[in-house]
Amino acid sequence: MTLFVDMDEVIADTYWAHIELYNQEFGEQLTLEECYGKEVWQCVPQERQESVRKHATRNGFFSMLKPIEGSQQILEQLVKHYDLYIASAAMQYPNSLKEKSDWLDDFFPFINWKNRILCGDKHILKGDILIDDRSYNLKNFNGRSLLFTSPHNVHSNGFERVNSWHEVAGKLI
Ligand SMILES: [Mg+2]
Repeated sequence: MTLFVDMDEVIADTYWAHIELYNQEFGEQLTLEECYGKEVWQCVPQERQESVRKHATRNGFFSMLKPIEGSQQILEQLVKHYDLYIASAAMQYPNSLKEKSDWLDDFFPFINWKNRILCGDKHILKGDILIDDRSYNLKNFNGRSLLFTSPHNVHSNGFERVNSWHEVAGKLI
């Protein structure tokens, strides 16, 4: 079985990084809970939104991300059961390609480079299972779609939801 796994907000914690950078630069105390149902840039005053929206274009942004809890341990198990590919729409931020590749080397060294798809639109993916936090990726997928919970999608319906990597393990192993 072919299993595709997204990066941002599935194995890499971008919300933490956006909030951390925003709080550092503006001396604020924005919390994750304040971002439920929204993008981080939507949670800040209008004159600061452009700054937050451009975080991902900065050199080093994707290098600073923390792995999502449990992702390393569970993916290390899943690679034994599935033809597993990391699938990230990395071309949205061309600067991210090298950083994402290095980040995978650091935190997911057991995923071979041949199993890393840094792509454009994910509709090109054909396989059995896709784990992603964005409903626009899941709705175009022809296999089983698992919505990985992220602050922005807590109110989304219509997909099989997984709240953590331990829940993924319960369903897929
Ligand atoms: Mg994502």
